[in-house]
Amino acid sequence: MSTDTNFFIGWYIKGKYRYTKSNEREYICPRNQKHEIDGAIANYCSICGSKITTRARLTPIVLDIYDIPEEVGCLEDAFIEPEYMSKENEVILISNYSLCGSYLQAFESNEIVDLSQDKQEKQYTEFMNRHGEDIKLLKEYVYDNVQLFYGAFVYYS
Ligand SMILES: [Zn+2]
Repeated sequence: MSTDTNFFIGWYIKGKYRYTKSNEREYICPRNQKHEIDGAIANYCSICGSKITTRARLTPIVLDIYDIPEEVGCLEDAFIEPEYMSKENEVILISNYSLCGSYLQAFESNEIVDLSQDKQEKQYTEFMNRHGEDIKLLKEYVYDNVQLFYGAFVYYS
């Protein structure tokens, strides 16, 4: 595997992970939840003999783009998530369409990037034309605090 160094300038999305309750159930000892249960096999707690019960699993699960209902849309190929860019509980997404107003190229490139206000605005329009609906889906179904930023960074892929 080779590692490419990518230089990104443009609009990117930042969001916070949203958590949801899991639908799974977990087995517990009703007398003491620290009693370890082999839920698949046991009917009674092997430590105190209480009858084992179940409850909704408390560990939350993180939503991702696959939680968007199929009939509403699919963002599978819309974005790239650059590795190691985001802080804890946060997600960074850039467009998967390299011509979507962003510069996404090998770092060796000696092209000078125009960062004028005009250019940024043009990139914004292109980004929103391509991803405006996607952003709505992200806000509704996947992440909290979805915002658009303009910036530059290097990431590896
Ligand atoms: Zn027990």
